[in-house]
Amino acid sequence: MLKSYDNFIKLATQTKISNPELFLKRKKEICKNLGLPLPTNADIRELYEKMITQKKIKRNPDLENCLFSKKIRTDSGVAVVAVLTKSYPCPGKCIYCPDEVEMPKSYLSNEPAVMRAISAKFNPYLQVQRRIHALELNGHKTDKIEIIVMGGTFSYLPKSYQNKFVLECFRACNDYPKSRNKNQETRNNIEIKLKTEQKKNETAKHRIIGLTLETRPDYIDAEELINFRNLGCTRVELGVQSIFDDVLEKNKRGHNVQRTIEATKLLKDFGFKINYHIMPGLLGSSIKKDFQMFEKLFSDHNFQPDMLKIYPTVVIRQSPLYKIWKAGKYKALTDKSFEKFILRVKNEIIPPYIRISRLVRDVPESSIIAGPKVSNLRQLIAKNSTCPCIRCREVRSDYSLKEKIILHRIDYPSSDGQEIFLEYSTLPLLDKERAGVRSKLFALLRLRINNEKSIAPNVLKNSAIIREVHTYGKMNQINQKDNISPQHIGLGKKLILEAEKITKKEFGLDRIVVISGVGVRGYYRKLGYKLKDSYMVKKI
Ligand code: SF4
Ligand SMILES: [Zn+2]
Repeated sequence: MLKSYDNFIKLATQTKISNPELFLKRKKEICKNLGLPLPTNADIRELYEKMITQKKIKRNPDLENCLFSKKIRTDSGVAVVAVLTKSYPCPGKCIYCPDEVEMPKSYLSNEPAVMRAISAKFNPYLQVQRRIHALELNGHKTDKIEIIVMGGTFSYLPKSYQNKFVLECFRACNDYPKSRNKNQETRNNIEIKLKTEQKKNETAKHRIIGLTLETRPDYIDAEELINFRNLGCTRVELGVQSIFDDVLEKNKRGHNVQRTIEATKLLKDFGFKINYHIMPGLLGSSIKKDFQMFEKLFSDHNFQPDMLKIYPTVVIRQSPLYKIWKAGKYKALTDKSFEKFILRVKNEIIPPYIRISRLVRDVPESSIIAGPKVSNLRQLIAKNSTCPCIRCREVRSDYSLKEKIILHRIDYPSSDGQEIFLEYSTLPLLDKERAGVRSKLFALLRLRINNEKSIAPNVLKNSAIIREVHTYGKMNQINQKDNISPQHIGLGKKLILEAEKITKKEFGLDRIVVISGVGVRGYYRKLGYKLKDSYMVKKI
């Protein structure tokens, strides 16, 4: 895997590197000299271990200190495993989207996650097992896994491939650390086998506590969401990009904003968490218009996503936008203008109940012809940011037993329903300035009440819906607690009890339903919930 990085590792081990900043600088220099895209530390670590085993290099303790960014990947409480589906045509014709031969549409063969997928020949079983292994090599716990399926429009893939792909993800977790023949048992009765592997995963060592699928708004309808639930999906990444019809049209998105509004409502009514992909700097937009877009995202109840991935538009040679840019008809954002813009959005618009999960995409600098190239934006703006979003407040490893943990609540209208956002944190929620002095967030819960016109399935009728429960901090193994993490000290349970109380007392409902990841079903069973139509249900 990542064979071309052999020389990189050799050079890196020969250098004296004393801290992670110097390592990042050195990493960039070496990659530039070797003409390689910047790899992630996890990639380097994996290859480093392999080369040590093969006796190609000697251990370098300084380098290991820099490489083991032990904190980052599981400080949000789960181990994230991203996998890619194989190349398949996409119904979209978006002008900024690269179309590389034999690559899933919108992905480039030199993106680190894509390189990993290529080396596994897009086999989901191998991708998952290799990623778990790499995370373990980095010193992470991997028993609570969030699977993110990337690769463009998942809904456009044939149903048989969808089922098989997800089945293999579950099988890979259930088998790990053992591996079985990659083609074993997967030809017939895939749906039954998927159910069997899901059942197994409920008590497996490596549990899939969340499954994210990526799709377009115009591919969401009730039938598709039932399909998503059967696969075990709990969160959807929605390619929204813009919420203005003229911009969508200019960029040939192939759907209007009404489709986004409808998809968003349906997703929330079914209990899914929603992560919007938003692209500032699209053709036909401007800094002013992009700013208005972000204001509308959180002032208009039709949008209100739970998470955001902000991907600034970049010009890539393999995309139609390249020709438009070449003809002088498109002007891209610069590093500086994007940095300034993001800082304003974070400090002035972002509410405390959303999580900005990405600020830029992993497109290698060498592939960007025009547009922001900055890859460490979060660090660059950190000192001027008072962003109160979930990601900026997550406690990570900064937890001590002395913390004053207080319950806070925000109610807001959302896609014709009502959202109640509960969290345990150190400071009140709405005071952005105080959030700027770094409130610490320990746990959260999203409770939703659909309106009577909702077309969600019967299992969700006359019920409140828990769309998310999450405890942050260093990931602890299932059933384990310690003094340096708020995981497994009962915060999640307390939030669920609070949600049950609100449901009964304030809304007069006697049923509560949770969109639970397959691997968390056991947890809810202990709290009196029962499995019904892929949801966990309790009469209260
Ligand atoms: S829908 Fe997504 S993958 Fe398809 S063309 Fe548009 S951006 Fe690319
Ligand atoms: Zn933030």
